Amino acid sequence: MSIEVLPERVIAQIAAGEVVERPASVVKELIENSLDAGATLIRVEIDSGGKRLIRISDNGVGIISTEAELAIARHATSKLRTADDLSHIQTLGFRGEALASIASVSHLTLTTRHRDESAGSQLRIEGGDIRRRQTVGAPAGTVISVENLFFNTPARLKFLKADTTEKRQIASIVTRYSMAYPGVQFVLLQDGVEIFRSSGSGQLADVVLKVFGLDSFKQMIEVSSEPEAEIEVYGYTSSSEMHRADRSKITLFVNGRSIQDASLSYAVTQAYHTLLMTGRYPVAVLMVHMSPEDVDVNVHPTKAEVRFRDPNAVFAAIQRSVRRAVIDAVQVPTVRQQDFADYVTIRRPAQIGLDMDMVDTGQYQRQQRPVFTQRSQDDDDDPTAIPSGPSAPAKPRTLPMLRVLGQIGSAYIVAEGPAGMYLIDQHAAHERILYEQFMDNHQRQGLIAQYALNAQSIQLAPTEAHLLQEYIDVLASLGFTLEEFGPNAFVIRSVPAMLADKDPVGVIQSIVQDLEQGKHPGQQSIEDKIVLRVCKQAAVKAGQILSLDEMQGIIRQLERCRSPLTCPHGRPTMLHMSSEHLAREFGRLG
Ligand code: ADP
Ligand code: MG
Repeated sequence: MSIEVLPERVIAQIAAGEVVERPASVVKELIENSLDAGATLIRVEIDSGGKRLIRISDNGVGIISTEAELAIARHATSKLRTADDLSHIQTLGFRGEALASIASVSHLTLTTRHRDESAGSQLRIEGGDIRRRQTVGAPAGTVISVENLFFNTPARLKFLKADTTEKRQIASIVTRYSMAYPGVQFVLLQDGVEIFRSSGSGQLADVVLKVFGLDSFKQMIEVSSEPEAEIEVYGYTSSSEMHRADRSKITLFVNGRSIQDASLSYAVTQAYHTLLMTGRYPVAVLMVHMSPEDVDVNVHPTKAEVRFRDPNAVFAAIQRSVRRAVIDAVQVPTVRQQDFADYVTIRRPAQIGLDMDMVDTGQYQRQQRPVFTQRSQDDDDDPTAIPSGPSAPAKPRTLPMLRVLGQIGSAYIVAEGPAGMYLIDQHAAHERILYEQFMDNHQRQGLIAQYALNAQSIQLAPTEAHLLQEYIDVLASLGFTLEEFGPNAFVIRSVPAMLADKDPVGVIQSIVQDLEQGKHPGQQSIEDKIVLRVCKQAAVKAGQILSLDEMQGIIRQLERCRSPLTCPHGRPTMLHMSSEHLAREFGRLG
């Protein structure tokens, strides 16, 4: 074949492939146009999942009659004049591509009347060809009907999913934008039935409640950044009790633009560090606002991805705001007023700095201090001992005072509190205590008490030995001193003191197994994995009979943990049965 320049129409169809992937992308582009036109009411109608019809009507400024044809021309826009404008773009659109692309792969009817004109204009375009233009009477604003999408690109048509999938995608676009623009009323009709209507009241809470429903809304926490923050973050995020199996319920807007950004979704998830089980994700709607100069929106034709001048700052801003909101909200529902006053004292972000530093960088920040030999005075002398009753650390209380009644199944501690009965998982609770102790010593003091061993050796498979060698420094910083000793063998010189009475070879083996699972995005750092493993090994097990003293020791320490309600893996440490619940179950209450 000879080389030829493609006809304009073919170029448009190829380009359309990038912008218009499916009916939902049409809806997104048209909504963005309506928002750019200053609409306060946007009505979205779709038939057959958008395959037959997508119609978006708005009460925005409209298009002046002499420019209507230009609107559907490629690279025609009213939003940008020079390349310099790209650096401070304030509108959602700027590429001048969407209408041309959509028109080239559908039957499109544009009806519009500019606010300052008395007559409207209507254009009918089929596969990019203008078939009809006429002057019509129309309300101020714009109506765009897209029929028979992809009628001339059968390959695309074939790849469309079932109507229900497309409907869901479209509903998700409409509801997302309604949350980002609470001052705009959105109405969505599918096959003639109204399925969503926002109030346009301007109150984010109104829309979030509409979108998620009352029951979910009640479990969501308001997020806001500090008033003067350079990167402003606000919105709603789920409490640690509400979670999902994937990240898809994390909705992010940057300067009013819906974006997908794996790293920022990760920032949201990371903010729940140790409060959510691995593999569970929060539900969140977050609006990020920053100077337009600090974000490059011209990365991708669909504008779904953006690039930040300082990605770490955005990451940290999101994570801080969410973390603070989540930590603030974690509390036992039945804490008495008195205890609550104590509780409030630990909620300040400064006091959770430890967790925040850790999640910010994904690494523990080891302080470069001279090595002290004394340890923090809160701690018992023998860290391996189950904490015993009378020692009352000076940390603020985060739970009401609980009275230990006994143990059941050699696994759960039964306790009574001001508001009923508590069942505490002894292993999970002890893991939480040890985790916070370990982190405190490691991060605040920069040292880990070690227990020296008499030349214990361990023999590993070559790949395992390799892994251990790779992380030998990390392990050293956490209290494990290992020395290579012949092929695939190591001498264990010391372990963290809390593991003094455990089998060091077994501990190292289980750490190697953890390391073998590697580090996947969305999971903890290697150091975190090791710390979790250490605490798991050191904690009392289910099946271990505890004395009353030992149980009281655990409860007293748990009462002063920063996050007493979950173990470091995010599982609950306790169940609570309220006095009312008991009374109701026994028929004492109506
Ligand atoms: P862009 O949004 O990138 O400018 P589009 O192809 O989406 O490109 O739209 C082209 C132009 O048509 C816009 O710049 C705008 O001037 C005009 N336009 C499109 N939709 C509307 C609308 N709903 N109301 C008013 N003007 C619109
Ligand atoms: Mg546009």
